[in-house]
Amino acid sequence: MLDDIINNINDIIGDEPQLFLDYDGTLVPLVNNPVICYADNELLYILEKLNYHYEMFIVTGRSLEDLIKFIGNYNMIALHGDIYLIDDKVIKTPDFDRYVSLCNDLYKNREYYINKFKNLRVYNKTGGLLFHLGDIKDETERDYVIKYVKNIAEENSMDVYVGINIVELRIPGINKGKAIMKVRNKKRPAIIIGDDITDEEAFYYNNDAVTVRVGNGKTIAKHRIKYDDVRKLLLYLINLR
Ligand SMILES: [Mg+2]
Repeated sequence: MLDDIINNINDIIGDEPQLFLDYDGTLVPLVNNPVICYADNELLYILEKLNYHYEMFIVTGRSLEDLIKFIGNYNMIALHGDIYLIDDKVIKTPDFDRYVSLCNDLYKNREYYINKFKNLRVYNKTGGLLFHLGDIKDETERDYVIKYVKNIAEENSMDVYVGINIVELRIPGINKGKAIMKVRNKKRPAIIIGDDITDEEAFYYNNDAVTVRVGNGKTIAKHRIKYDDVRKLLLYLINLR
């Protein structure tokens, strides 16, 4: 698996590929408490080197503030593409502020959701609202939460995204795939690595790229890699320079 990816990368490396890397589940392991997800020293080293040798973007569902806190200042596509940090400049999607205040209002009601569903955790992502199901073991209750969040989405004309242990309200019409397209240099190849359904959107909209799915799950990516091999691949990229 890793060898196939390396072969594919060797073919395009001379054309200055842009790198698009997901954070959770790709650069750091998935954790039950999303609040604490700091990069370790090895990862900080890898990111610094990659960013020096390549044009690199971290593409995440997390907020910009979270990610800057965890890894420092790099080019970032945050909140699945609601907000970008490019060359230290913050670029917001139109309507971003309106959705931030909508999410603030919804977040004020969090006691209500938490009382309704014991063990549900709610996080305000400023521009998105995350419902974390990691502590809810009962499948029926999980399904009920998902249905409930879908109703909130419909009432407020937002998109809903169901991922591993999470349900999320998102600004409509935004996804990682379209966001990556916006910052891509079409004359250059791209390498896109991610582990989740949101990354499938990135693979779908950028099907000319070297696309790599981390871990299990249905994928349209050209390659698949184990989580433990991701850093090996990134170190390989560094060593090519
Ligand atoms: Mg991920």
